[in-house]
Amino acid sequence: MARYSDVHRIFLQSLISRRFLSENLAIQLYKRSCEIVAAAEGTDPSTQPFQNALELVANALSPIGLEIRALVDEGTKQKMIAIVNTKGDAIAQVATEFTPNEIAYFKLIVECIMLAPSESFSLSSIAAIKESTNLPSKMTKTEAESTLNAFVSKGWLLRSKRGRYSLSTRSILELQNYLKSTFEDEVLECTICMEICTKGIACSIARCKTRMHTHCYENYKMLHRHCPTCSSPWDGKRPIPVGEEAVKDGPDSRRSKKRVEPEVVQEEEEEEEDVEDAHEQEFEEEASDEEMEEEEERAPPPNKGRQRKAKHMDIATRFVDDEAEDD
Ligand SMILES: [Zn+2]
Ligand SMILES: [Zn+2]
Repeated sequence: MARYSDVHRIFLQSLISRRFLSENLAIQLYKRSCEIVAAAEGTDPSTQPFQNALELVANALSPIGLEIRALVDEGTKQKMIAIVNTKGDAIAQVATEFTPNEIAYFKLIVECIMLAPSESFSLSSIAAIKESTNLPSKMTKTEAESTLNAFVSKGWLLRSKRGRYSLSTRSILELQNYLKSTFEDEVLECTICMEICTKGIACSIARCKTRMHTHCYENYKMLHRHCPTCSSPWDGKRPIPVGEEAVKDGPDSRRSKKRVEPEVVQEEEEEEEDVEDAHEQEFEEEASDEEMEEEEERAPPPNKGRQRKAKHMDIATRFVDDEAEDD
């Protein structure tokens, strides 16, 4: 393999200045780096393959706690590359453009997305706005909306046509360690590419662990007709959606129990919930939005303490239904 040279230095600088980019653009930047050095030195451009150059650059980054990660974007199907900080509080580092309260809000949204029932990994906009009432320093509805818009415009969240929020490819790449350590029971890995999967499909067989990104599933399906984990035939069977298609339109049920701050003891939690309820009530009075009132009608708040169980019940029901179908 070629030694680390000026080509790699220039290439690395162009990657760092972007931090998050498509692989296609990275290939263009590498070519340009080769041309710049060749022109300056009066030699032929380097013929080192892109992947080798990327590997050399990654090796140079690792002593300073940075890593290069890649993931196919579920929307554009483009392979994206991110330079990721592997140390410290990932969220605080990636979201330097936000205030501490906004970062706390982002954490709450990420938590709701990760704990969403039925592996939907998404959150309705009404639920997202309501989540702002759980912040230590409260936001008005308008502030919450504009903060959410900023999360979307800066590339940390996606907002679908249905108005549901989910994690962007950039968030998944940058927050990978955080997601895996904080939500180890909820994070799903694609059976094919082993990367985090928040949108795709699940095998329709009860208790089968197969999850695949949509693009990984499309590729797999062309060559195979059986589930790679449970070997059941997939002919004519509709896989179960993972991601926002796993939930119907309409409001989300109340959020799952808080898990991001595990140091909160049970008794305090009870008290906190009362405060939370008071806040929510206050907030609801404040919010004159019709949709919000509608939600109250359609979705009576279930017992908060049972939320986590409810999630498992959802999944269990799904499996039971499938089994019935199989018979
Ligand atoms: Zn995959
Ligand atoms: Zn299976």
